[in-house]
Amino acid sequence: MISLAEAPRTTDALRAFRSTIRAFVQTEFEPHQDRWREQRFPDPDAWTKAGAVGMLLSDVPAEYGGGGGTFVHETVVVEELTRAGVPLHSFIHDNVAHYILAYGSEAQKRNWLPRMARGELVGAIAMSEPTAGSDLQGIRTTARRDGDHYVISGSKMFITNGWHAGLVCLVVKTDPKATGPKAISLIMVETRDLPGYRVGRPLEKVGMHAQDTCELFFDNVRVPASNLLGPAEGRGGFQIMEKMNYERLAIGVAAVATAERAVAVTTKYVKERRAFGNALIDFQNTRFKLAECKTEAHIARVFLNDCVERFIAGQLDTFTAAMAKYWLTDCECRIVDQCLQFHGGYGFMADYPIARMWTDSRVHRIYAGSNEILKEMIASSL
Ligand SMILES: Cc1cc2nc3c(=O)[nH]c(=O)nc-3n(C[C@H](O)[C@H](O)[C@H](O)COP(=O)(O)OP(=O)(O)OC[C@H]3O[C@@H](n4cnc5c(N)ncnc54)[C@H](O)[C@@H]3O)c2cc1C
Repeated sequence: MISLAEAPRTTDALRAFRSTIRAFVQTEFEPHQDRWREQRFPDPDAWTKAGAVGMLLSDVPAEYGGGGGTFVHETVVVEELTRAGVPLHSFIHDNVAHYILAYGSEAQKRNWLPRMARGELVGAIAMSEPTAGSDLQGIRTTARRDGDHYVISGSKMFITNGWHAGLVCLVVKTDPKATGPKAISLIMVETRDLPGYRVGRPLEKVGMHAQDTCELFFDNVRVPASNLLGPAEGRGGFQIMEKMNYERLAIGVAAVATAERAVAVTTKYVKERRAFGNALIDFQNTRFKLAECKTEAHIARVFLNDCVERFIAGQLDTFTAAMAKYWLTDCECRIVDQCLQFHGGYGFMADYPIARMWTDSRVHRIYAGSNEILKEMIASSL
C-alpha cells in the first residue's frame, strides 16, 4: 500500500526523520501507554522529550525554534504516533503554533514558539463550552478590557491537552453585543500560576484514555492586553476559519493511518485464527470484506496525499479540507468497525489494538467540526 513514505516529496532527510520519530515513539512512548491510560494523561516529560527529539513544531521555521520543515513532517509525526497507538495530540499543540505564526506579533512569536518547540509550553485550543460546541456564536466566555489587561470569565469544555496546557489559545467574546464572527477574538493565556485559572480532572471518555481532555475555568483571570492575537479585536472567527484546515487535515492523516493499521493488524489475525478447520481468511466473506477495506483505505490515502500536496502549495480551500476530515474519518470508522468484527469476541477486549482503534477513532467524527457541520459547510459551496 502506498504511504507518504513513497510519496513524491519523500527525500532521504524525510526518511531519516521518520525513522528517528518511529524509534523515539517505540522506546519513549509505547511502553508507558497502559500507565498513561490509567492516569488519563501522558507523563509531563513526554512533551519535553518530544521537543528534544524534534517532534514538535516540525513545520515551523527554525528561526522560531521549529524544525523548519513542511506539513509533510507533521504527517510523519501523526502517522508514527497513530501507528504505535499513542493518542498524543501533538497536532493540536502544533496548530496553536500556527495560529501564533500567522497572526502573532514578532514579540509573541519569539516569546512562545521556541518554548513550544521544546515542549516546555504545551498548547491547547479552547473553543467549546458546556452549552456551545458546534455553534461557536453561542459561547459565553468573555474578555473585558480593563486598562492594559483583559479580564476573562467563563469556562471551556472538552479541551484536548488541557491537563498540561501552559498556553491556551482561548476563544472569547470581546464584544458581547456584536453578532456573527466579529464578536469573537483569540487571546493567548499563559496558565502557569495564573490567579483565577483552574483545570478540572481529566474527563472520563470512552476512548483516547491516554490523552487528557479537561474542562477549563476562568474566574476574573487577568492577562496582558498584548496577548490578543492579531491587530484588533473581532478577528477570531476569521482566524479560526483559516486555521481549522490544519487541524482537520491532521485528523485526516490520523484517520488514514488508523485505517491502514486496522487492515494490517486484521490481515495478520485472520491468517492465524482458525474456525471450522480453516483460517478465517479462507472464508470468502473475510477475503471480500477485507479486500473492500484495503481498497477504501487506498482511496483514502490517495485523496489525503492530494490534500496534503494542495495544503503545502497553499491551495487547500476550506471546503476540500472539510471534505477530507468528514470523508476520511467516516471511512476510517467503517473500516475499523469491520476489522473489529473479524476479531470476534477478542475485538471487544479493551487491550486488543483493534478495540483501542475502535474506541479512539470514534471522536474523529465529532471534534474539529462534527461531520454534520462539515457537510453543511460543503453544501454551502454547491
Ligand atoms: C475527546 C474530545 C476532544 C475535544 N477537544 C477539543 C478541543 O481541544 N478544543 C475545543 O474547543 N473543543 C474540543 N472538543 C469539543 C468538540 O469540538 C465538540 O464536542 C464538537 O464540536 C461538537 O460540539 P458539541 O459537543 O457541543 O455538540 P453539539 O454542538 O451540541 O451537537 C450535537 C449534535 O448535533 C449535530 N448538529 C449541531 N448543529 C447542527 C446543524 N446545524 N446541522 C446538523 N447537525 C447539527 C452535531 O453534528 C452533533 O451530532 C473535543 C471533544 C471531545 C469529545
